[in-house]
Amino acid sequence: MAQEKMQFQTEVARLLDIVANALYSNQEIFLRELISNASDACDKLRYLSLTNADLLKDDSELKIRLTVDKEAKTLTIADNGIGMNRDDLIANLGTIAKSGTLDFLKNFSKDKKDVSQIGQFGVGFYSSFMVAENVTVNTKRAGEDQAWTWTSDGQGEYAIDEGSTDIARGTSVVLHLKEDASEYLDEHRLQSIVGRYSDHIQFPVVMKGEEEDQNLNSASALWTRSKSEITEEQYQEFYRHTANAFDEPWLTMHNTTEGVIEYTSLLFVPSQAPFDLFQPERKIGVQLFVQRVFITDECQELLPGYLRFVRGIVDSSDLPLNISRELLQDNPVLRKIRSGLTKRIIGELKKKAKNDAESYLSFWGAFGAVLKEGLYEDFEQRDGLLELARFNSSTSDELTSLSDYVGRMKEGQNAIFYITGENLEAIKNSPHLEGFNSKGVEVLLMTDPVDDFWLGQIGEFEGKQFKSITRGSADLDEIKTAGEDETKKDEKETPNVAAVLELFKLGLGDKIKDVRVTQRLTDSPVCLVADDGDIDVHMARILKQHKQLNESQQRILEVNPNHPIIVHLKAKLDSGTSASDLEDYTEVLYGQAIIQEGESLTDPASYTRKLNKILAATIA
Ligand code: ADP
Repeated sequence: MAQEKMQFQTEVARLLDIVANALYSNQEIFLRELISNASDACDKLRYLSLTNADLLKDDSELKIRLTVDKEAKTLTIADNGIGMNRDDLIANLGTIAKSGTLDFLKNFSKDKKDVSQIGQFGVGFYSSFMVAENVTVNTKRAGEDQAWTWTSDGQGEYAIDEGSTDIARGTSVVLHLKEDASEYLDEHRLQSIVGRYSDHIQFPVVMKGEEEDQNLNSASALWTRSKSEITEEQYQEFYRHTANAFDEPWLTMHNTTEGVIEYTSLLFVPSQAPFDLFQPERKIGVQLFVQRVFITDECQELLPGYLRFVRGIVDSSDLPLNISRELLQDNPVLRKIRSGLTKRIIGELKKKAKNDAESYLSFWGAFGAVLKEGLYEDFEQRDGLLELARFNSSTSDELTSLSDYVGRMKEGQNAIFYITGENLEAIKNSPHLEGFNSKGVEVLLMTDPVDDFWLGQIGEFEGKQFKSITRGSADLDEIKTAGEDETKKDEKETPNVAAVLELFKLGLGDKIKDVRVTQRLTDSPVCLVADDGDIDVHMARILKQHKQLNESQQRILEVNPNHPIIVHLKAKLDSGTSASDLEDYTEVLYGQAIIQEGESLTDPASYTRKLNKILAATIA
């Protein structure tokens, strides 16, 4: 078969363009990426060989070898791992499979040069082109006879050809170094890079020394070493390797559990949220090892979904080495590990929240919305999660915990008030908040879609009911505020606007469930609220968006008896103006309330016509 030339997928070409234009200030990480790939390839082969020992043949000592050819100016990174066949080569080194990376690249503007962000995707193999003008990959897949050669200069296309029969199993990546990258021909330089980034790699990384092979790394599983022997940098590099991430771990948890079930876990909470945290394909990111042998990085049973941001590894000696991925699905050992890990992670987060409150807030900003999913998914951890939760508040710019909120509750206040909505700006200006603001009663502001769901399930915290301020009556009467004079309060008379309520009822008919006077409003004339047993306003909108709810919910129209418009309407009615002459006013006020909820009007044309009529009359 003759050599075949192929085009890189458009996104790969873009990526290569970004990479080649010195995206990274520290070029040297290309070596970490290639060693990391080689290590993964060894992991994969070792896993397959558990059920098919023939794959290893007579070459069972898995390792990674660096070779320098100073004359040819090449650096070769070779492994005797799983290798690739022709299809693998095309799928792996010509395209990008991960949808998140693709999305990102589509939106990536070249001028931004947003290094930190692209780091999330692990430029991986393609980082070779930072230092190489030409890359050759010789590879042979374990168990197959045909070897393949892949070459490219990273400029839009690559070539695939049959490789010579004497290519060994595994993959060797030959980098023809650029003129200005000759430092990577220097053994000392290589040794120091491997020491810095790849010491934690389980397989030996070797290089030919004066006489015999020289080991460049410790080649023992990092998690099996004792904590005191592991430096922060080593943890960090291990995190980057297993998580395919480029940030620093915000929290590192390294523990061995002994007893009925024994396992070691080395887990990390990243400091940055990955871009695909809320994409449906986002999976549990913790790798499962059995007796230091990599089994899978797709074990959904290892952690609950709301901890999907956690990275790292779990190594258990209580699972059989040859366990199939299918068998992992309903495994009692795994269930125990999952529950142990969940408790530990929540426990560690609590400690951080207590001892390092400021840093905890940055964690919450990144992952709080995910953690909150646990509030309705995981009954057992609910209390712990409620303790960890932080909320925006109507009375402060800082996030607050629920117990701090309860500690600040006013005399006579018996509920934790909250409002949910799409964004902070909108709910901060919601008319429903007016009465609470004027009384200085704190309301929690919630903007994550998940909020409506858990709030629907969790009735109370520390014996205090959660109460939506857009549902039911406002309950503001019993709450005393500092300096409020009891007697004076009683004297303050609410104007009797019964006639106005009648007017609304008549004009709006079926559009509303009821009309009533409220304490909730100070500046706005009217607002809409959900009835006590009904679906909350924001929740109804979410359900409608997801087509879970068809018909519109009837709302209660609440009227501010002290608002000038209402007062004037009352005066007009008192002086004998007929209800039909005031119809436009009720329609327009009702429309306002709908708009303020963030909803759209069913008949905007009629609304506009009526509003304009009123405006025209006031100008005249
Ligand atoms: P990533 O490692 O993040 O998946 P890369 O671009 O580095 O991305 O590699 C793409 C794919 O190419 C890998 O997922 C792997 O399947 C394959 N690959 C890369 N290097 C090797 C290797 N040394 N041996 C076998 N397969 C490899």
